[in-house]
Amino acid sequence: MTDPEAILKLYTERSDSLDASSYDVAGLCRELIACRAFVIAVIYTAALDGYIDDDDIKSFGVEHGLLIEAEVTESCGQGCMCEEAGAFPMTCFKKTAVLK
Ligand SMILES: [Zn+2]
Repeated sequence: MTDPEAILKLYTERSDSLDASSYDVAGLCRELIACRAFVIAVIYTAALDGYIDDDDIKSFGVEHGLLIEAEVTESCGQGCMCEEAGAFPMTCFKKTAVLK
């Protein structure tokens, strides 16, 4: 959607239906800042090093509060990334509330 009038109309309609009192604005700001810091770390690493690997991404996720690193001997449950790996014991990078 690139029509500015249509975007403004959609934004206005959605803004009218929002109940700001039901949102934890400070919490949302912290999550946004964490996500922004993560993206900046990924982009700068890729730009400066010329590459980025999965260990870098997981490390940045932990550093910025998006992931929690934990040694597990069995699956954390359905939906966790260790569920697919299935080789225990292993290091699991659990999603924090920011990613849920
Ligand atoms: Zn897990």
